[in-house]
Amino acid sequence: MWDRPRSWTLESYRAHGGYRGLERAKTMDPEELVNLVKASGLRGRGGAGFPTGLKWSFLPAPDGGARYLVVNADESEPGTCKDIPTLMANPQALVEGVAICSRAIGCDHAFVYLRGEVVHVYRRLLAAVRQAEQAGLLDSGFGLDGDRPLTITAHAGAGAYICGEETALLDSLEGRRGHPRLKPPFPAVQGLYARPTVINNVETISSLPGILVHGPEWYSSMGTERSKGHGIFSVTGHVARPGQFEAPFGITMRELIELAGGIRAGHELKFWVPGGSSTPIFGPEELDVPLDYESVGAAGSMLGTRALQVFDETVSAVRVVARWTEFYQHESCGKCTPCREGTYWMRQIMLRLEAGRGLPGDVEKLEDIASNISGRSFCALGDASAVPVLSGIKRFRSEFEAGCTTPASELFPYAASAIVESAR
Ligand code: SF4
Repeated sequence: MWDRPRSWTLESYRAHGGYRGLERAKTMDPEELVNLVKASGLRGRGGAGFPTGLKWSFLPAPDGGARYLVVNADESEPGTCKDIPTLMANPQALVEGVAICSRAIGCDHAFVYLRGEVVHVYRRLLAAVRQAEQAGLLDSGFGLDGDRPLTITAHAGAGAYICGEETALLDSLEGRRGHPRLKPPFPAVQGLYARPTVINNVETISSLPGILVHGPEWYSSMGTERSKGHGIFSVTGHVARPGQFEAPFGITMRELIELAGGIRAGHELKFWVPGGSSTPIFGPEELDVPLDYESVGAAGSMLGTRALQVFDETVSAVRVVARWTEFYQHESCGKCTPCREGTYWMRQIMLRLEAGRGLPGDVEKLEDIASNISGRSFCALGDASAVPVLSGIKRFRSEFEAGCTTPASELFPYAASAIVESAR
């Protein structure tokens, strides 16, 4: 669909079968729809991989009040780039998916929470919603009684990584500072405006039209036993042709690198991450691990958002981990002490090591700080910040130790020195 002329327009989308899924959804009652999505095996594509139909079924029985769908489009983890390309190339798939999910959960007002900085994406989404409204596609068939119109509100956030955490997103959407909420109550029971709410990722919701048109068996025939279907794998870094590759779960990194034209000419793979900066580092020895939730977990990492970042031998692992640590320190919302203080101190030490001015015991201190953030923070961002530090040291301890005497820019002359200089 992405390579069709003007693929983002309603006209192009409908010319290729768009909105047939919604037509089918309108012939089914909500329970049938939830069961169909359960049967497809679709799991949340935002990173956690929770079964989608099961999540929808957690909503309490209707009490006559509002129920909401909130789409999490706050994509911002380093390396993650699947939702924004989807929204640019095929926003109608999301609009149709929103309508299908709204029908299944009895919702007549859905929200899409998007990063405010990506104005071009925001405009495209607004245009897609307007086109669907003007074509009368959202006029009826929604809400608890199944005959109300559907309103879709596209909301531009102010740009904070923490607002990708579902409860911080809800706080932000309600007009407050984005801080994670204590759970329980979970959003399915008390979410937006304290009403039952389903929160799903852009890719999850955009997968629904295909499942409705082709059936749950078609979808579950792809992938592996417990990771069904297909997904978008974003391959970035030192490959010849970085990009998004749609493939069944279970494809390997070796195959994806081949699709991406191989490692850039004259170089070799040093390390890679399977799911963004918050997932433990893999090396060449893991190239044949099937990319599904279970296999990647069993091999010691996480599939996350399938943000596959590739680094060749010219790259300093210390330098990469220093950039990620700066990101997490900057994005820590400050609500809890382990993450707020720990990310600050990890950043100081990482910059010292990168500049070759580490102190004796710095590597052990890093391990100690990271271990005291992990599992002791209020939300997953704290754990995420500890992952690159701990897995970087585990894989490349000698490079970290060398940071006590030698700058990364000397060990790896390809590394630009701008940030090293700023740390001096
Ligand atoms: Fe905020 Fe970090 Fe604590 Fe999460 S872990 S609540 S981002 S300070």
